Amino acid sequence: MEEEVKQKYIDAGLVVQEARKKAREIAEPGENLGDIAENIEDLIHNEGLEPAFPVNLSINDEAAHYSPGVNEKRVLNDTDVLKIDIGAHKDGYIADTALTVNNSGEHKEMIKAVDEVLEKALNFIEPGITIGELGTFIENQVPQKYNVVRNLTGHYIDRYAQHAGVSIPNIANANTHVIQEGDAFAVEPFLTTGSGKIKNGKKGNIYIRKEGKVRGRTERQVLKKIGGFQGLPFSSRWLNMSPREQLALKKLVSANAVKHYPVLKEVEGGIVVQSEHTVLVGVDDGKNIVTTKS
Ligand code: MN
Ligand code: MN
Repeated sequence: MEEEVKQKYIDAGLVVQEARKKAREIAEPGENLGDIAENIEDLIHNEGLEPAFPVNLSINDEAAHYSPGVNEKRVLNDTDVLKIDIGAHKDGYIADTALTVNNSGEHKEMIKAVDEVLEKALNFIEPGITIGELGTFIENQVPQKYNVVRNLTGHYIDRYAQHAGVSIPNIANANTHVIQEGDAFAVEPFLTTGSGKIKNGKKGNIYIRKEGKVRGRTERQVLKKIGGFQGLPFSSRWLNMSPREQLALKKLVSANAVKHYPVLKEVEGGIVVQSEHTVLVGVDDGKNIVTTKS
């Protein structure tokens, strides 16, 4: 990995570490989810970087991909199990991290468990192991009383690409892809009290540009705004849209020029916890750098 690229990954990670601290401070009962997301995204902007995707604030049986919308109404409750998933990039080099907050404390054991699974996985990673070996190791660290979510994975990252082809499953698998020095990827186990499967729920205010063709002046206007995100996911909150533009965005989704992500929910309604860090493999004299962790 080039020194300059490595430094950009590290710089993005440092900002995201600050964002994690801020997130923990502000994720208090009674807070509006829109305010929490904007506070975190503002911190990233104030540090001179851009969010790599809208802050995900997914509650209880929602595993991922809920982000507050314009005029968000949802408020955090004391007992909620909130996954805060944060990404920032410097010149396209992404740091991706997530933590879980539960103010009442009734799910703290499960949150500790997922943090420990991730910690062990990060220590297991070294050049030469396969994706299959890593997945098997991760699954073996999961305490019996919980299920690992089987159809959510970590992922390689690349410049302006949050999901760069190779997935990092949290379960035993036969993938012989060998992890190399200089690889960059996010590891993100999810544990649940449910069966361990995720389905698509309703739409969650996160979008990404797709290839579909468009007609119409307002549609092209909206696409121009979207172009600024360089192919990374974005929020309807970031577009500052007129009612006409909001309609145009819906048309863009219908025309497959934009994808509108569904919220991912546990099939049995089980509580889901998540922990995530981004790792640069073997780049520190053969040791890993976890960019999102101090
Ligand atoms: Mn993430
Ligand atoms: Mn991720």
